[in-house]
Amino acid sequence: MSRSAHPAGPRHADVLPEGHYSAPPADLNALDAKVWAQTVTRDEHGVVTVGGVDVKALAEEHGTPAYVLDESDFRARARAWRTAFGAGADVFYAGKAFLSRAVVRWLHEEGLNLDVCSGGELATALSAGMPADRIALHGNNKSTQEIERAVRAGVGRIVLDSFQEIVRVAHIAQSLGKRQRVQIRITVGVEAHTHEFIATAHEDQKFGIPLAGGQAAEAVRRALKLDGLELIGIHSHIGSQIFDMSGFEVAAHRVVGLLKAIRDEHGVELPEIDLGGGLGIAYTSADDPREPHEIAKALTEIVTRECEAARLRTPRISVEPGRAIVGPTAFTLYEVGTVKPLDGLRTYVSVDGGMSDNIRTALYDAEYSVALVSRTSDAAPMLARVVGKHCESGDIVVKDAFLPGDLAPGDLIAVPATGAYCRSMASNYNHVPRPPVVVVADGASRVIVRRETEEDLLRLDVG
Ligand SMILES: *Cc1c(COP(=O)(O)O)cnc(C)c1O
Repeated sequence: MSRSAHPAGPRHADVLPEGHYSAPPADLNALDAKVWAQTVTRDEHGVVTVGGVDVKALAEEHGTPAYVLDESDFRARARAWRTAFGAGADVFYAGKAFLSRAVVRWLHEEGLNLDVCSGGELATALSAGMPADRIALHGNNKSTQEIERAVRAGVGRIVLDSFQEIVRVAHIAQSLGKRQRVQIRITVGVEAHTHEFIATAHEDQKFGIPLAGGQAAEAVRRALKLDGLELIGIHSHIGSQIFDMSGFEVAAHRVVGLLKAIRDEHGVELPEIDLGGGLGIAYTSADDPREPHEIAKALTEIVTRECEAARLRTPRISVEPGRAIVGPTAFTLYEVGTVKPLDGLRTYVSVDGGMSDNIRTALYDAEYSVALVSRTSDAAPMLARVVGKHCESGDIVVKDAFLPGDLAPGDLIAVPATGAYCRSMASNYNHVPRPPVVVVADGASRVIVRRETEEDLLRLDVG
């Protein structure tokens, strides 16, 4: 669409970025269901509500910034994954996306398993009652203590990431008189990101053992020999924010190829394969994620077809969605502090948080959308950049977005799809306390992770 074609016209048309922000949306007050949690809507006064609670009430009760999470949406998504894969497969929620004890309880109740990748995540999972046999321990450099705790607790599997770790876990398990169920994480030479995947040279990374050069086959050989280990399967995780299933297709083909080689060499058919996580969500209206049932159908078909071709029994499949479950269920609620128009450029909108509560924009150039949520507005759209309060010019929350031209200090704005990798990656930069996670359900709100206080920060400072 040509830029001169917008009747409403952004204020700074000469610097419009390419891509989906090249035109303002037809109605800035509309909330695209793709990017907002399921129960988000506007009430008759134009105020956005979630779980039946309006954002002004949430800001008043809990302060801003705050992560606001829709519990029924989280449960619905978790259940959709569980149902899509059925009893013949396992769904492990990737705890690193966002973990708290409430989340662990929801997962437990909805029949999901849980991936952890540190002692802290393991402690959270166990303290909230997740049965150990439904927990998987990940990581490329698990400490001896972490491995020991996991083996003692009886975790369902440890995913081995290196030759040294194969020996380390075997040794620890044996010294505890146990046989630990393990998978070996391999890199299949496929890396997928967003809409593309690349099938060359991506063994060049810290995770996993390369399939290339026979390394993965050698790892299997060693693991099968060790009494402390019960090798149950092969693990592959190819990337994140993936929309295109063809990367999984190549990965499954190569993992099954290894299973076949293992059967031919050792006479064993490993019973499980884990295809990892990485399924994409909509951060902006331009993204079109797949539904869990489509993903389940595609993955199951690929694995079944590959196994039939290799004359192998189809192994039990597991997947590890993190972002796809929690990402869309939350938004970050901010109060606008300053609005600074820069002539001929854009308008900088400063909020009361920033890179300390959402590092993804600075870290990965992530795209987000944003909306005025405390009222509606008929003002013409302005091209805005939503920035935080930190001492970095890269402290950007939303790089390019249209907001109503009458936006003013005191307005509440919200950034949707911040449920994954925002609170879990939050920092105390500039000694800004981390925001709370507020859950809304059935017309009520409650805090599941409280706001950090200055006292919390000072408590650690013991000098
Ligand atoms: C990060 C990660 C996941 C989850 O990725 P999402 O993009 O949140 O779905 C799953 N498995 C492994 C091994 C990971 O490292």
